[in-house]
Amino acid sequence: MTFASTETEARRDTRELIRASYQAISLYSPNRAPCEVDLSDNTNLWGVPPAVRHVLEGAVDPVITRYPQAYADELKRAIAEYVQLPVECVVTGCGSDDVLDSAIRAFAEPGQLLAYPDPSFAMVELFARMNGLRPLAVPLAGDFDADAAAFIATAAPVIYLCSPNNPTGTALSRPAIETIVEHAPGVVILDEAYAEFADGDCLDLVAKWDRLIITRTFSKAFGLAGLRVGYAVAAPYLTGEIEKSRGPYKVSSLGARSAIAALTEDSHWVNERIAEAREARTGLTRELRRLGLDPLPSQSNFVLVPVARAETVSARLRERGIAVRPFPRLTRVGDAIRITVGPPPMMEKVLTALDEVLRCE
Ligand code: PMP
Repeated sequence: MTFASTETEARRDTRELIRASYQAISLYSPNRAPCEVDLSDNTNLWGVPPAVRHVLEGAVDPVITRYPQAYADELKRAIAEYVQLPVECVVTGCGSDDVLDSAIRAFAEPGQLLAYPDPSFAMVELFARMNGLRPLAVPLAGDFDADAAAFIATAAPVIYLCSPNNPTGTALSRPAIETIVEHAPGVVILDEAYAEFADGDCLDLVAKWDRLIITRTFSKAFGLAGLRVGYAVAAPYLTGEIEKSRGPYKVSSLGARSAIAALTEDSHWVNERIAEAREARTGLTRELRRLGLDPLPSQSNFVLVPVARAETVSARLRERGIAVRPFPRLTRVGDAIRITVGPPPMMEKVLTALDEVLRCE
């Protein structure tokens, strides 16, 4: 089938239909081609919580034929219990991507600024632009902490921070986070997608600062990336606005039920896997150093390793059945590959392959 828009003249006309600010945006498409050992997306390589498997296998017809709860109220209650905050402080979404997108849309008018650290989670700049905001990158400080003065100087109505930060794996300091929240003119979104793997988190700050929004996900520590469930915690007047912006039915019935099962029946299982991931992270970091590399100190379930010609190294690893994520020319780091932490046999495979590849480079 040939669309008229493939012809030059018609293409010029149809371009006028496209939002001007969208023309500079390209589709986010990480290389997700299947690979024997996939260490590219920071998901839980230890598998699915057993109670979730039970939920999925036992799904009865109405769960599938009827709509889910519009705002996933039962899930909100389970999350509220987990984070020890009132249920009004919780809002959910189709992955934390959806929660971030909704929050960004809720708290700034088109044309206003969104300040975010560089390097950090690549989707944030896209969400800003798709919502008509002007993204403003603020380089991380030399020690990978947030440059509080620089963030405050932006006076952006939405400031995004990420701790532990993707792709560096490093955590931001509480003083830097609190200084930014204290002086920010608008909201501060703190993305804690990987907080379960860190030595500490900032959930307690939600009760202290009524402009702080913390986003979380079931995609990483809880192993439910395919089910797409995320949430935010914040003061009720903020979660109400995010919920408006997110709209109804964003979390599927199976996603909600699975997340509830993971929280209420499998927290022990999840915590054991987190402990294993932290141990594997220590081992991977040590072995990478033994190979003469200088991985960044990670508080997450992945490790960022500076290497020359990251894209070539990543391609060579793929030839050996291992997927990692290359990051060429990262601010403060240069070229690097990001390796998801997994069970020891997977870590042995990536270390052996990386050693081979680097010897050949
Ligand atoms: N925040 C960060 C920092 C991430 O790395 C990711 C996933 N790569 C997300 C948010 C989005 O995760 P999800 O939509 O699966 O919850």
